Amino acid sequence: MKIALVGIGKIARDQHIPAIENSPSWELAATVSRDGVDVGFEKFPDLNALLNARPEIQVVSFCTPAITRFALAAEALRAGRHVMLEKPPGATLSECHALSVLARNAGKTLFATWHAREAAQVERARTWISGKNLRKVGVTWKEDVRRWHPNQDWVWEPGGLGVFDAGINGLSILSAILPSPFHLVAATLEFPSNREAPIAANLTFAYSDGAEINAQFDWRSRGEEDWRIEIETDQGQMVLAGGGRCLILDGVELSNCGAECRDGEYDRLYAKMASYVTNSQIDMDITPLRHVADAFLIGRRKITSAFE
Ligand code: NAP
Repeated sequence: MKIALVGIGKIARDQHIPAIENSPSWELAATVSRDGVDVGFEKFPDLNALLNARPEIQVVSFCTPAITRFALAAEALRAGRHVMLEKPPGATLSECHALSVLARNAGKTLFATWHAREAAQVERARTWISGKNLRKVGVTWKEDVRRWHPNQDWVWEPGGLGVFDAGINGLSILSAILPSPFHLVAATLEFPSNREAPIAANLTFAYSDGAEINAQFDWRSRGEEDWRIEIETDQGQMVLAGGGRCLILDGVELSNCGAECRDGEYDRLYAKMASYVTNSQIDMDITPLRHVADAFLIGRRKITSAFE
């Protein structure tokens, strides 16, 4: 199937283009780039030009920042195309709901991807937790923003999410592996004095069986990123590290956590999308974005040092 990619930035180049090219299901037929970025495929300056010129391209994948997502995805759905969305699926909960309604009415696929859920050990972690009673859960998502978001001003703008752009990956995994829902009860968000989005956050969630969940997100970290979920249960302890690529059960490492472990997250996302378009399925789970919205609703704001 022919697919077009919109927004040729870091994630499009690092992950989407290689995953589409590796896939037996997809042919990258065109790209849309405001800045005319040339990655070797027919390119269009805007979505409208692509939709008019290439009616045979039935699927569009969006890699632009979330704040741009609704207008673009709605335009594609209205033009009768299937739509795949990078995380987070929108800038607000309401626009995500509106997109779902549009997709349902158009009879087209809408896929809110959560790449971290596709990491190699996530499914194994979910199976291990099932049937156990949770005692304590810790989520740590710490990384160097300068390494992961070089020159990306949009992450600091309203709707850019700040540190939640990364932390939402941890929440996407946690909401996929815990057997029951959890909800936010308290949060502190640290905003640099010169920015509109938080650089760090500390969140406390309540879990249905009484266990406490704490999450710490920080973009001021230096060196290697620390993306881990630690869970103590009545039957042992689990650490899911490396953003879901590495599983340690009761101190025993069950998987290769080295950098050489290619994760295949985006290969699995594009395989899912291929199966979804065959029956116009909608997969629009907005749970991780809901937790982030809750943090902005009830979180305390702390102003911290300016970020340059
Ligand atoms: P990026 O490098 O800034 O790329 C985004 C691209 O979107 C830009 O290069 C630009 O491409 C296009 N764009 C259209 N409207 C824009 C606007 N108003 N402001 C900025 N760019 C605009 O960002 P990214 O890291 O690829 O992130 C894009 C999405 O992928 C985000 O939702 C992010 O959460 C997600 N993601 C990122 C990573 C990561 O490691 N960076 C990992 C997983 C997911 P053109 O000039 O070609 O139009």
